[in-house]
Amino acid sequence: MKTKYLDVLDLGRLIQARGLHRFLPGMAQYIRQDYLRWQQFEKIARVSSHSPDGVIELMPISDGVLYGCKYVNGHPKNTMVGLPTVMAFGVLADVNTGYPLLLSELTLTTALRTAATSALAAQAMARDDAHVMALIGNGAQSEFQALAFHYMLGVDEIRAYDIDGRATRKLMANLAKVPGLHIVPASSVAQAVKGADIVTTLTADKRKAAILTPEMIEPGMHLNAVGGDCPGKTELHPGILRDARIMVEFEPQSRIEGEIQQLAPDAPVLAFWQVLSGTQQGRTSAQDITVFDSVGFALEDFSALRYVRDLAQEHQIGSWIKLVPDLLDPKDLYRLVADEGDEPADCISGSRPVFQAPATMDYRIGSP
Ligand code: NAD
Repeated sequence: MKTKYLDVLDLGRLIQARGLHRFLPGMAQYIRQDYLRWQQFEKIARVSSHSPDGVIELMPISDGVLYGCKYVNGHPKNTMVGLPTVMAFGVLADVNTGYPLLLSELTLTTALRTAATSALAAQAMARDDAHVMALIGNGAQSEFQALAFHYMLGVDEIRAYDIDGRATRKLMANLAKVPGLHIVPASSVAQAVKGADIVTTLTADKRKAAILTPEMIEPGMHLNAVGGDCPGKTELHPGILRDARIMVEFEPQSRIEGEIQQLAPDAPVLAFWQVLSGTQQGRTSAQDITVFDSVGFALEDFSALRYVRDLAQEHQIGSWIKLVPDLLDPKDLYRLVADEGDEPADCISGSRPVFQAPATMDYRIGSP
């Protein structure tokens, strides 16, 4: 028995094998499936460790069969020392035994799952005729957001703005060859937002910012607020929220970390899973201002881990690692450090795995 391991190169191979135009909607489908079985999940707000320049978080969740957990950070100043703002990895384990089935990179995967989730939310909340999106903040997440909205909603024009002009030029160069997607640089937030159907905010700053202010917002707009995802870290002026229909992922977490931390604790919000299932109405008219107050919830990472696991199986990508000792006698862990003359550690497992995976589970991919 071994653990499947997917590193960043493996993720790249998976995306190449699939193509982003299929990968993003495919991941969104897994996220949707899991939101639609919301009641089956054991859910808690993520566990955060804050420091002056950032946060490190653990995001656990279980559906009773599989357990998922992501390690992720958020350090807005990291790019100044050559590191990404957001870095992550995660595990998917068998609930019955606790055996870690999959260990995966999640930095790239987080950008993909965040974009897929945003587009899924916009499918439920934005106007059907939406095709122009302002993209404020053109860093690591931005291309994925642009592509998810292009592939999943038919957005064909992106108005890009960042306080760092190099970031906008990078975004434009990276997406220059995407057929049917036109990227227009803007000289200010207000210019990018004017006349847009959807506005995505993706900035990184550990403070209560007001990237969007009420006078910029037009009737019918859908706001996809992604960058405000920690206590004291927001992007929307509270005046926008008071007039909007706001959708959140997991309310107990969003009250602490989302844009709605700026509102009264009982201010009304819509639940993403209920809007997806049709038990709550997202948009009620073409004039509504709608907001997806995205902070990122563990369920989305759980879905993403399931998705990459299944794709890795289909395309035979990834490797197997000995993360857990494979012991003939599971009570004899000491054999692994046995003295010279004793049975060498490599022989302990022999060819007979002690742990037998349940026949109903499909995680024994290929030949470990
Ligand atoms: P990044 O550091 O790579 O990019 C952020 C960009 O925002 C930078 O280019 C920066 O110049 C720009 N920026 C900062 N202040 C700005 C302002 N006032 N106006 C315009 N641009 C501004 O970070 P990233 O990895 O792209 O992440 C972006 C944000 O999204 C972060 O805050 C991160 O925590 C958040 N995030 C949220 C989720 C979620 O699920 N909600 C998931 C991943 C990341």
